[in-house]
Amino acid sequence: MIKEILADLVRIDSVSSRSNAEIVGYLERRCVAMNLVTRRFPYLDDQGGEKINLIALSEETEEVELALVGHTDTVPYDPNWSEATNLTERDGKLYGRGACDTKGFIAAALTALENTKPKKPLALIFTADEEIGLRGAKRLAEAKPLRVRYSIVGEPTSLKPIRAGKGYSLAEVMVEGREAHSAYPALGASAILRAARLINRLESIAEKLKQDQHDAFDPPFTTLNIGLIHGGTAKNVLAGECRFTLEWRPIPTQSSEVVLKMFTDAIEAESETDPDIYVQIDASRQDTGFETSPDSPLIRFLEQATGLESGTVAFGTEAAQMKLLGSEAVVIGPGDIREAHRTGEFVPIAELERCEAVLRQSIQHFCS
Ligand SMILES: [Zn+2]
Repeated sequence: MIKEILADLVRIDSVSSRSNAEIVGYLERRCVAMNLVTRRFPYLDDQGGEKINLIALSEETEEVELALVGHTDTVPYDPNWSEATNLTERDGKLYGRGACDTKGFIAAALTALENTKPKKPLALIFTADEEIGLRGAKRLAEAKPLRVRYSIVGEPTSLKPIRAGKGYSLAEVMVEGREAHSAYPALGASAILRAARLINRLESIAEKLKQDQHDAFDPPFTTLNIGLIHGGTAKNVLAGECRFTLEWRPIPTQSSEVVLKMFTDAIEAESETDPDIYVQIDASRQDTGFETSPDSPLIRFLEQATGLESGTVAFGTEAAQMKLLGSEAVVIGPGDIREAHRTGEFVPIAELERCEAVLRQSIQHFCS
């Protein structure tokens, strides 16, 4: 049963760049067949493609006891990988794009609900565009169609309950210079040298960030990265422009603004010796982290059901948006995050089945 659903889900190509209407249609048919009430939340993505968040409720309500949350989209796959949309079983594992991230969890959630009847209101929440910045979940968090008490968000964690996650912030930085012939540097100002001085300051900021510690995480502080840099037009021209990305992953106890403030202070300090410096910062993402108390009934229950101690992750998840819907949240699912997002993605069958059992017990526990 669970394998058949997963095979169906994997067969439907739902890479984030495509519309997720087909996979949502499939999920909705299955939900309606279980007598769930479905609600669609459509929107157009940046390319004008149709995207849909789907909510399926065990009864007509706006107050839900438990939500099981899975994203419908996947990262792209290599067209030469023949198993990508053709779920293949080998050595107790199921291979395919989305097998663990996150169609395995969705198949387990559907099967769990087919095998148990919630007495208190339960919701299945299927989101769009998770892999390209949690966009579907953010829309739901804004629309607030539901209040949710507890939510279980599917992501490959090898069934370890995850009770906290770091946030994710991104800024694109443009440093302006003044072009000149490199034989006469005094006639211009190199944007690359300016960027280099700022990056030096960012390295000091990264050191300072180590002082604000959150012991549940590894590493236990906000980290930052400059992943891309681009500038200049020719070897003998002082660069007129240099752009770089600044990415940081704040611990949930620290606002995303802290790093931005430290960076603008650094630019200010730089302008004391370089008064003409001009920097434009486009802070395009500020996704908050999340943290649920280790004493939460949700965490306690899942630790006991899985036999695994709860932990934390250093990446962003939809748990932050579920928190905005009023819920205590946990992230859990079959498969290993290190196997996701690559050719040969798989989910171990035993974990997939174990996940179904854990979700079934969760429904019985929280919705009875
Ligand atoms: Zn995922």
